[in-house]
Amino acid sequence: MLPRASSAAEAAFARLGVPDALADRLRVPHREVSVQIPVVGDDGALRVHRGFRVQHSDVRGPFKGGLRFHPAVDLEEVRLLAELMTWKTALVDLPFGGAKGGVAVDPRTLSPRERELVARRWTERVGAAIGPMTDIPAPDMGTDAGTMAHILDEWSRTHGYEPRIVTGKPVELGGSLGRVAATGRGVVVALETLLDQRGLTPPSNGGDVAVAIQGFGNVGEHAALEAHLRGYRVLAVSDVSGGWLDPDGLDVPALEDALESEPGRQLADLDVAGATRIDATGPLFVDADVVIPAALGHVVDAANVDRLTAPIVIEAANHPLTPEAAAALVERGTTVLPDILANAGGVIVSYFEWVQGASLLAWDEAEVLARLDARIAAATRQVLRAAGEAGTLRDAAMDVAVRRVVHAMELRGQG
Ligand code: GLU
Repeated sequence: MLPRASSAAEAAFARLGVPDALADRLRVPHREVSVQIPVVGDDGALRVHRGFRVQHSDVRGPFKGGLRFHPAVDLEEVRLLAELMTWKTALVDLPFGGAKGGVAVDPRTLSPRERELVARRWTERVGAAIGPMTDIPAPDMGTDAGTMAHILDEWSRTHGYEPRIVTGKPVELGGSLGRVAATGRGVVVALETLLDQRGLTPPSNGGDVAVAIQGFGNVGEHAALEAHLRGYRVLAVSDVSGGWLDPDGLDVPALEDALESEPGRQLADLDVAGATRIDATGPLFVDADVVIPAALGHVVDAANVDRLTAPIVIEAANHPLTPEAAAALVERGTTVLPDILANAGGVIVSYFEWVQGASLLAWDEAEVLARLDARIAAATRQVLRAAGEAGTLRDAAMDVAVRRVVHAMELRGQG
């Protein structure tokens, strides 16, 4: 008996009548690499971490997905996230498959030198399985452009210079303009398209829309800034340390400036005049029109879902709702914009970066952003159309994605 795919994928296989023989190829990852990452720390002691790369499917193109450094990383989580990437790239119609990598380590405990070594050892150990036409890593939780620069450098030692081996790298090394802010921007563009199609008034047309954002990492911070710039009332934000609530709307650029004024500062270290302190999960449960979980997975579960009262939830994180919580929200009539659509902006600009790398051309930022907005908006409209009056957006998004992957398998034949 083969293992099952995610519950969302299994439900789509059943709805679409995908034959078992085809579904089985999506239930088991194409390849899983599990490695040891030995690092001599700054104290001279050797520590060994677990590292992974799971390549779920490459039927539509090279494996694609981020690499995360987080203490909770394990093979099961990476496997689920790799599968999610297959659906995400298919939904926004990129010529990529799905993959994910991880190292079970807390990056906040590492010095810059130790972080670099973790990235280098990971690259060395999974190096045979990745490549510019095979599998292209990118940043995810706990990793950034600097990590991608180290992967690029390590991989190039044995293979020669190849900018397409990673995306999300520094612009100076062939990264794309617009990549860092892409996921957060995509979240807001998807929200804007949703409001528009549902006959609600976005701030650009004078509407008052209150949003609350949980998570102030790369995704949450840029989503907050983008929302603020477009006239949304960002009434609550948080990071792991805690957060702030101001029903009149927070001054997001001022928060960013305050955080940047001292390295290592977190939201709870600030003093925000006129705002009330809330805890790290606070934004999920405030009285807002839109709640945006943008940090860890499974923050909303069966135990706390009753406290989430906003009529719209945008999944900016990967899997922020447990399947039980997602079902409870849908039952209650909450509109949930699923992760494979809402946070696809990052991998979309990764694709643009990869294309720029292949052609050795650099696009200007306006071109990148216009293409990003167009793709996210088109995918959102497609999902809204597919959902019709009664269907859920997650089911509709999964159906579009699964259909595309299955069709590609059918075209490629039995192998
Ligand atoms: N880590 C991001 C995601 O989960 C981006 C992946 C990529 O750009 O390949 O979508």
